[in-house]
Amino acid sequence: MTYAILLAGGNGERMGGSVSKALLSLGGLPAVVRCARVLSSFADGVILVTRPQDTEVIHKTLLEHGLRDVLYAPAGEDRQASVRNGLTLLPSACETVLIHDCARALVTESIVKRVLDAALHHDAAIASFPVTDTLKETEDGKTIRLDAGPDRSKYRAAQTPQGFSTKLLQRAHDNAEALGIRGTDDAELVALLGVPVQLVTGSRENIKLTVPEDLRMARGILYAREAPFNAIRVGHGYDVHRLVKERPLILGGVTIPHPFGLFGHSDADAALHALMDAMLGAAGLGDIGLHFPDSDTAYEGISSSKLLSTVKRLLGEQGWKLLNADITIVAEQPKLAPYIPEMRRNISNLLSVLYYDVNVKATTTETLGFEGACEGISATAVCTLMYLKEKEVTE
Ligand code: MG
Repeated sequence: MTYAILLAGGNGERMGGSVSKALLSLGGLPAVVRCARVLSSFADGVILVTRPQDTEVIHKTLLEHGLRDVLYAPAGEDRQASVRNGLTLLPSACETVLIHDCARALVTESIVKRVLDAALHHDAAIASFPVTDTLKETEDGKTIRLDAGPDRSKYRAAQTPQGFSTKLLQRAHDNAEALGIRGTDDAELVALLGVPVQLVTGSRENIKLTVPEDLRMARGILYAREAPFNAIRVGHGYDVHRLVKERPLILGGVTIPHPFGLFGHSDADAALHALMDAMLGAAGLGDIGLHFPDSDTAYEGISSSKLLSTVKRLLGEQGWKLLNADITIVAEQPKLAPYIPEMRRNISNLLSVLYYDVNVKATTTETLGFEGACEGISATAVCTLMYLKEKEVTE
C-alpha cells in the first residue's frame, strides 16, 4: 500500500498574496487539485498537510473537483515537522510513501511513476534534474569570489516527489529528531542514515512556484501542454418569441417600426437572446435562463442590451474574449435589411469589438412554419471565444 503526503502548508508570501499557493489557479485548476489528481492515480490515499486556516477552503475545493478521500494533517513549524505530522496519519499497512510539495503543481504522472518504481526497488528515490546554469560563488552577493565555481556535473537539482519505504523514512525522521538536525528535505534525512537515495529524472517543467514570475512560467507551460484543446471555443444559441400586438419590435437592440412586437418577460429581443446563449455556451456558463431567470422581477421589461453587457462582463471575468459572432434572424415581416447595419454597430459597441466581428443576417422561410405565418420570430447565433488570460489570483 502506497500513501502520498502532499505538503501545502506554505503561506505564499513570496508569491505576493495572502492566498495559499495551493489555491493558485493554473490553467483553470487550483494547484492542489492538479497535485492531488496526479498523486491519487498512484497512491491508495493522500494526506494533505495544511495550515489550519486553509484547511476548510482547500477541503471544499478538493470536494468540488471530486477528490473526497483526503486526510488532513496540520502544518508544522518547518517542512520536516510538517512531514512528521503527515507520517502520524499513515495506516500501518502503508509500505511506501511519496512526499510531494504542492508548489510543484506541474508534476506529471510519468515523474511520479519513475519515483515510485525506484522507491519500490531501492527504498529511497527522488526526482531530480541536471543543473544547467553555471554556478558562481560570491560572498557579498555582488561580485564573484572565485573564477572556477563548483563542477556542475556533480550536482543535481532536487525536486519532488520523493519516495521511500515507510519504515526507512520514519527511522530517518526519528534519527534526525534525536540528533536535533533540521534537513532541507527527506532525502537528506535518509542519506544521514547512510542509505543511498536513487536519483530519478524529473523534468525541467516540474518547477516550484515560489515568486510571481514562476506563476507566469507555469501558466506558459500549461498553455503549451493543454491550451490547443480549449483556447478557442464555439457556442450556439437559439431563441423564439411570439409576435403580438402593442409591443415594440426590438431586434439586435434596435427598435423597428412594425404593428407587432415580440412578447416576453424582458424586451424579448430574440437576436440578442440567441447571441447571449451562444456566448454563455462557448464559455461553459449555462444559458441566460440561469443568469437572468424570468421568475425574477428585476428582469421584467429589461433591455436585452443591458443583459448583453452583463454577459460580456461575466465572460471577461473568466478570461474570455469574443472573437466573432454570426446571428441569423428568421422573420417573414418586416423586412429587416435596412436595420442590420445599426444592429451590428449596436452589438459591436456593446461588446467592444469591431463592426466586422459581428455579423447579422435576416431570412424568411418562404411563408412556411410559424415564422412564415408571422406568429413569431426566431434567431440563431454562433460565436467563437478566445481564452485570453488566466483568471487572476483571488484573495
Ligand atoms: Mg428569449
